Amino acid sequence: MSLLVVGSIALDTVKTPVEEHGDLLGGSASYAATAASYFSPVKLVGIVGSDFPQSEFEFWKSRKIDTAGVKRVGGKTFRWSGEYAWDLNTRETRSVALNVFENFQPVLPESYRQTDFVLLANIAPSLQTHVLEQMERPRFVVADTMDLWIQSARDDLETLLPKVDLLILNDSEAREITEKTSLIRAGRAIRRMGPRYVAIKKGEHGALLFGDDEFFSSGAYPLEDIHDPTGAGDTFAGGMAGYLAGTIGGKVTFTNLRKAIIYGSVLASFCVEAFSLERLRNLTMDEINQRYEAFKLMSQFEPAE
Ligand code: AMP
Repeated sequence: MSLLVVGSIALDTVKTPVEEHGDLLGGSASYAATAASYFSPVKLVGIVGSDFPQSEFEFWKSRKIDTAGVKRVGGKTFRWSGEYAWDLNTRETRSVALNVFENFQPVLPESYRQTDFVLLANIAPSLQTHVLEQMERPRFVVADTMDLWIQSARDDLETLLPKVDLLILNDSEAREITEKTSLIRAGRAIRRMGPRYVAIKKGEHGALLFGDDEFFSSGAYPLEDIHDPTGAGDTFAGGMAGYLAGTIGGKVTFTNLRKAIIYGSVLASFCVEAFSLERLRNLTMDEINQRYEAFKLMSQFEPAE
């Protein structure tokens, strides 16, 4: 089954203590759609300006991502710039220019409206709801969010949550939205706000998954070389949603969600090995499956003798 992905498409500038690069392909939808495309056909929704390279459309085409829902308008593409500290975890946003994103009101092409799976990648919750309202009863809705919306668009987020099947957010956001210090309490409290399932990402420490009386905790893939953590969360969400849409015949169970968490983690682990989407541009399914198998071996605490 296919997956509709809506979110930001950006040109980023990223600085780490050792390198700085500009005009990089970025944005939540760019990462999420590319990650998801390994598992399912993707229909992308977004907006870009006249400065956005045509070659990126060719790249998405090569990944079989449908870009009929990506609008190109006069003006500049959304731009974001961030700088990382030595731990490559702490990040400061240096600048954000909404540009063409400022008046973005996505209108779904007719061919997108019956898509079964939806990933509302990180954008304003009012836009996420606006996209959902144009769809004809999707079977499973995944949403991602960020601290900015918890602080500045809380009401919109609370309107969205009952329409979401799986909410993905990071640990600090889970604590912030629930005002709870315990992530276990926070996960349960977010479920009471609407989503049937909640995935809490803990960066290099893995992820937690909450369902009806069900719980799963996974580690992260241990990496020696991290170059740019930008987009890891979006890639995780894309890998998870793509796996759910593409490989399980549309049947979402807790067992499938556990596997989806691992695929999401595998994709995110590749993402951070290079700047922007560079590592995802030449990643193969064999490499993904090898790392998935390595994850399986690493997680066994009673291995066969
Ligand atoms: P992450 O590292 O998962 O937080 O995602 C980083 C990506 O999010 C970058 O490529 C940015 O272009 C994009 N981004 C930054 N701020 C926003 C925002 N307010 N809305 C949507 N996307 C954003």
